[in-house]
Amino acid sequence: MWFFSSPQVVYGEGALSYLERLQGKRVCLVTDATLLKLGLVERVKEALAPTGMAIDLISDVEPEPSLETVRRGAARMLELCPDWIIAVGGGSVMDAAKAMWVLYERPDIQPDAINPVEILGLRQKARLVAIPTTTGTGSEATWAIVLTDTLERRKLGLGSRENLPDLAILDPELVQGLPPRSTADTGLDALTHAVEGFTSSMHNDFCDGLCLQAARLVFEWLPKAVADGSDLEARTHTQNAATMAGLGFGNSMAALAHGMGHALGGVFHVPHGRAVALFLPYTIEYSACGGPGAGPTRYAELACFLGLPADSEAEAAASLARAIRQLEKQVGQPRSLQECGISLEQLRAELDTLTWNALGDSQTVMSTRIPDEAELRRLFLAVWEGARIDF
Ligand SMILES: [Zn+2]
Repeated sequence: MWFFSSPQVVYGEGALSYLERLQGKRVCLVTDATLLKLGLVERVKEALAPTGMAIDLISDVEPEPSLETVRRGAARMLELCPDWIIAVGGGSVMDAAKAMWVLYERPDIQPDAINPVEILGLRQKARLVAIPTTTGTGSEATWAIVLTDTLERRKLGLGSRENLPDLAILDPELVQGLPPRSTADTGLDALTHAVEGFTSSMHNDFCDGLCLQAARLVFEWLPKAVADGSDLEARTHTQNAATMAGLGFGNSMAALAHGMGHALGGVFHVPHGRAVALFLPYTIEYSACGGPGAGPTRYAELACFLGLPADSEAEAAASLARAIRQLEKQVGQPRSLQECGISLEQLRAELDTLTWNALGDSQTVMSTRIPDEAELRRLFLAVWEGARIDF
């Protein structure tokens, strides 16, 4: 038995106006200081005005939100008693809002104990709306929560199926002001979700089509959205791709690039999308090498759909890795750990932590080829150098 879960998705120009249909007494908007400054929160408030609901604000979610931020936000919700929680922001804001929501409904639970097994009984007090202001994390369409344990310097992959937002609103006008660098970071996260959702060992019929089309949309439209943020057509397609890839990998799983990316982000604070996309071509090459215990790969099907040379799995993996590196170059992203500004000394000093955290990440085990400790060390060192993987 397995599930396919999706929020109701309202998309396209004017989508934000859907908020006027919400009914209730009190809204709690969860956001961050930057979005507040940029005036996006004001636009959400204006869209909510016809509902007559009281609107409160939690605006202190930091990038890579901590357990403390979640506890603080939930305590505030317990005072305010909202019947709608609306997350306005990127993955960090949406993930923090999901966790605050759980603690608001279930004050007896600790944020790092939110897991897919326990029945939470959410929606007794509030429902969740996600309004993404970046185009890539897909958090608006998944139940996953990534928080940071600041003491242990590692990312915590949490979440329960009940965490899925009730409603996702994709309004391209809300992402027109997203800077090129963030557009590239998050767009490549969407591509990584699409590729890993299609190729992880949990791939399934429901997710395949979403992942394929999302990958194609990113290749076609991300360079345009990075070059000209005001291009509403490019913004619309990259926004759609992000949510489709979110549905795709959220209903299957991601894989090794996410496992390694989470480890890197926990230690060196490289933005999530930049980190996972950096590892993606290397993990494709690594998986295509096969080896004892490795499962079959699906690169030919994916590469063929994208119009890349794909006569064999090996050729498809090579052409896919090449196309991803070309796209990264085109949108100005680093393609090795040294290009990320990490020195070899810094990497060596943290190699144990990176390796153990990547080994213990819930996404790593969903790869068709799961590295052991020694292979993971070699992988991190090869990615630092920018070397092709042939082991
Ligand atoms: Zn991701």
